[in-house]
Parts: sequence; C-alpha cells; structure tokens
Amino acid sequence: MIELTQMTCGECGCVFGLNTRHYDSMRDEKGSFKCPNGHSRQFNNETEAEKSARYYRWFNEAVIERNKLTTQNRRLKTQVKNLKAKAKA
Ligand SMILES: [Zn+2]
Repeated sequence: MIELTQMTCGECGCVFGLNTRHYDSMRDEKGSFKCPNGHSRQFNNETEAEKSARYYRWFNEAVIERNKLTTQNRRLKTQVKNLKAKAKA
C-alpha cells in the first residue's frame, strides 16, 4: 500500500499527495518538487543556526546597501549645490 503525505502548494493552494517514502527522502535532502500546477516548491527545513546565519547575511547586505545609498545621496546633494552655485554665477 502506498502511503501519501498531504501537501499544500504555497503558490496556488492546491492540495496533493506525495508518496511518504519519497517525501521523507526529499525532505532529508532538501529536494525540490513541483505542485500539479507546475509551481516549484522547495523543502526548507533549515536549522535555527542556519536561519540566524541567513538573517545575519541579509542584515549585512542591507547595511552595505544603505551605506552605498547614503554616499550616493551625499554626492548628488553636492552636485545639486554646485549646479545651483553655477546657475547663480
Ligand atoms: Zn501550485
């Protein structure tokens, strides 16, 4: 007898069944699969440490991006100031 594990697609919400043995091995290998409507799904059973590391990476990227934008903003403000000064002269 085939045992099914019920799944719900996070994209379209359709409910479908996966062979439990297949489900277990895919979950262990963090495999990916498609729902009957073709949406790509991925097992995401990361540990708390992995999750923290991921958030930390995101945070660092956001800080770097913010610093970049701040520098760019400052440069543009200077440019505007210089152009205004030129226009007055
Ligand atoms: Zn779907």
